[in-house]
Amino acid sequence: MSGCEKEDPWGHIPLCSMSRAIVGEGGKTGSWRIQKPILDQGKCVLMRGKAHCHLCWLYCPEGVMSRQTPPVIDYDYCKGCGICAQECVGKAIRMVHEHED
Ligand code: SF4
Ligand code: SF4
Repeated sequence: MSGCEKEDPWGHIPLCSMSRAIVGEGGKTGSWRIQKPILDQGKCVLMRGKAHCHLCWLYCPEGVMSRQTPPVIDYDYCKGCGICAQECVGKAIRMVHEHED
């Protein structure tokens, strides 16, 4: 589904082409994952008074990081690529083995 013509749940109107994760022929594709991102809310700059960041939302190639404070990861579709952890300016996201917390 294109998101350009609609507001997201937080009232933002995307200015670029984007899609949202849905169940497709591959089912819930997060089941392929061998590592997963863990978000430490205390380190997220949004939780420390910054009005804007959302780099994790911007760079996630699967569109499964929400644009809210704090960001929320949709693990049903996150493939564990680690890009969000690489791009996070607050070092708030770390990658762990799928069965680790
Ligand atoms: S690990 Fe990859 S797919 Fe999962 S939330 Fe981070 S950037 Fe998105
Ligand atoms: S990139 Fe990191 S610091 Fe920025 S919103 Fe995402 S989790 Fe927070």
